[in-house]
Amino acid sequence: MIPAVRGTHDILPGEVERWQRVEAVSRRLFERYGYAEVRTPIIEREELFAKGTGETTDIVQKEMYAFTDKGGERITLRPEATPSLVRAFVEHSLEQAMGVPKIYLFGPMFRYERPQKGRYRQFHQLDVEVFGVADPAVDAEILDLAWSLVVELGIEHVELVINSVGCPACRPAFGEALVTALGQDLGTLCADCQRRAVTNPLRIFDCKVPQDQPVIDRLPHSLDFLCEACRTHFGAVERHLAMYDIPYRVSHRLVRGLDYYTRTTFEILAGNIGAQNAILGGGRYDGLVKQLGGPDRVGIGFAAGIERLVLAMPDAGAGEARTPLFVAAMGEAARESALALLRDLRRGGLEAHMEYEGRSIKSQMKRADRLKAAFALILGDEELSRGEVTVKNMKTGEQAPVPRAGVLDHCRALVAGGRE
Ligand code: AMP
Repeated sequence: MIPAVRGTHDILPGEVERWQRVEAVSRRLFERYGYAEVRTPIIEREELFAKGTGETTDIVQKEMYAFTDKGGERITLRPEATPSLVRAFVEHSLEQAMGVPKIYLFGPMFRYERPQKGRYRQFHQLDVEVFGVADPAVDAEILDLAWSLVVELGIEHVELVINSVGCPACRPAFGEALVTALGQDLGTLCADCQRRAVTNPLRIFDCKVPQDQPVIDRLPHSLDFLCEACRTHFGAVERHLAMYDIPYRVSHRLVRGLDYYTRTTFEILAGNIGAQNAILGGGRYDGLVKQLGGPDRVGIGFAAGIERLVLAMPDAGAGEARTPLFVAAMGEAARESALALLRDLRRGGLEAHMEYEGRSIKSQMKRADRLKAAFALILGDEELSRGEVTVKNMKTGEQAPVPRAGVLDHCRALVAGGRE
């Protein structure tokens, strides 16, 4: 047996219904808010992420599945969606086509991380982005959308955490203040933090090493270094959140691991899924479109991990109600009529099954049980000669003959009754 690649997983019947539910609920929600679906390729040029996600990020430095293709081009499996969506926005001038592009995407992402519960090498995200609106009302719309997603999926014990990381005008001073505040202590921090102090000091707040925490806890907060415009923006985001009645906590440590964030950053954490508890994260990225060769347009968005949403979702209501029917045939002559009945039921919009191997009626009924069939439709020589089908209620065991010509309508009524 050749097993699946480490850090990847199959999504099998029994679990896939939860995935379908996440997709159905989020699609309906996104469309209500005016977002349109976009599908981009899974492979992109490596430089898109080097420039977009950032050369100094863990994703680009350590986690990308990048390779040279047969034409000599550097290609990567996308580790996140935002740079791809920015590329598509620029490449197809979506602004002309859509006015204010509000888009979403579902799909697999790839990062060479250490696999554990809730962390995979191939995982799936749903991703939402808006381009071209600087007003804090759009930050609030995105936060409201993220919060509504979690609420509509029935996920409980969640917390929205927000922060502002400033902009190119105020962030450099904050970075310097961090390095100054660290002073001699920098030498005591982990190797990653020492590297971050040089490349992007804000990311020291991402450090999880326990020994480093007392030093990090004493560092200054980004909110105290915001310029006037960033401070006003953050205040407006908070006021909007109050208007939407969405509870949140401000955390100065929420800087997020990517280079492109400006101003608003946020995450939603779930209390019931273990150590990898961030189910959703995002923020504003006002310089990214220009940095990737597009017009000077602002942007904001978030990505949710579908594995983690599925893990955090309650069991109830995960699957759609089904009423399977099972067609059982006794004898060769009945078999052909049974196949025709199966065809009619399926074409008539009903879920119907049959066993093709010509086993005994007993083993066919066992199969019907296994499929959780609500009704069995039995056809034997006797039924054939009378032009009837025996319909058996699998729960009560009751059975009754139904004329073959009326059986589709009869079954439709049974199924409709079962769904009430
Ligand atoms: P990020 O792009 O790192 O901000 O991730 C956004 C969301 O994607 C996170 O909040 C997680 O829910 C999910 N996610 C990120 N990395 C992984 C991973 N390796 N495995 C599973 N889910 C992930």
